[in-house]
Amino acid sequence: MYGPIRCVEDLPIGWTDRQEAGTYRLEPRNDSALFGYVVGPTSWKKFLFPPREKLWQAQKTGNGFQVEAQFPPQENTAFLGIRSCELHAIAIQDKVFTAGPFVDSHYRLRRENVLLIAVNCTQPGGACFCVSMNTGPKAAQGFDLSLTEVISASEHYFIAHTGTPKGEAILREVPHQPWDENHEKKENALMKASERQMGRALDTRGIKELLYQNAEHPQWKKVADRCLSCANCTMVCPTCFCSSVEDVTDLKGEHVDRWRSWDSCFNLEFSYIHGGSARKSTQSRYRQWMTHKLASWHDQFGTSGCVGCGRCIVWCPVGIDITKEAAIIRQAPLPQTQEGGT
Ligand code: SF4
Ligand code: SF4
Repeated sequence: MYGPIRCVEDLPIGWTDRQEAGTYRLEPRNDSALFGYVVGPTSWKKFLFPPREKLWQAQKTGNGFQVEAQFPPQENTAFLGIRSCELHAIAIQDKVFTAGPFVDSHYRLRRENVLLIAVNCTQPGGACFCVSMNTGPKAAQGFDLSLTEVISASEHYFIAHTGTPKGEAILREVPHQPWDENHEKKENALMKASERQMGRALDTRGIKELLYQNAEHPQWKKVADRCLSCANCTMVCPTCFCSSVEDVTDLKGEHVDRWRSWDSCFNLEFSYIHGGSARKSTQSRYRQWMTHKLASWHDQFGTSGCVGCGRCIVWCPVGIDITKEAAIIRQAPLPQTQEGGT
């Protein structure tokens, strides 16, 4: 779990995680790596876009209500150990929350004060597929500082890159040796090995059209027979951004708080419009989620909504795997009519 740390010993030294569909196990490593794990159930999303936050409050006055906006405290925060897929996820949420005509001021205020220290993945998890999503394992951009942990029986050190003047200023304060070509060779070898170990792959060629053309594919029914509509996949996903608001009043009706909480397209009420829910079946909700992630997100934001972190696969209690579901549809797509319909 990501949380506050005060010293190096607060990092999960010597621990790793074994990940598979519906499985996450912490295991001791045979070394003292500081970043020898991959990604857990939480993502940095919880700090930039908290699961529940107060947006405003209002107090009854003599002749009406006094409304007072609630903004997050201006605090400097460093995200230490952020992975390449997660940098991409933050870039996606930046687009969602701040690039359109309506800027989410709560998100923007938090985002402005964050320092990003990336760690390149030298040992991907069993459910990772960042290589096929072009999002990893090496952090290419979007960080202030990036680190590659090099560890063996005889050595333990970090290769550091700076991405911004802020990162450069920090590195100047840290004792270090200049970069040479041996470091470059070592880092390249670690990254190549990591790419080869990638747990999964998703074939993204024409995936938007594929999913749009297969909205009536029988696989949606098959996956719905297993899916519990529990919403875990959306809660752990670092890019999912849906939320709901509720107003909570006191018993006297003199004070009200407006709260925003994470919501999910897997919840029946999420698609409620007057008269009922638009997506009544689990089949329609799973299809909505996957088609949004891999297809309509491109139309909406010009990018995929998936960064290949594998969390939705690992934390699905029945092990539903987005890469497998997409592959099944690709292997046997519905026949297309000449007009392009099914
Ligand atoms: S859809 Fe799944 S694999 Fe893709 S970013 Fe979200 S949690 Fe990660
Ligand atoms: S796909 Fe898995 S995690 Fe997502 S709602 Fe269905 S059962 Fe839950």
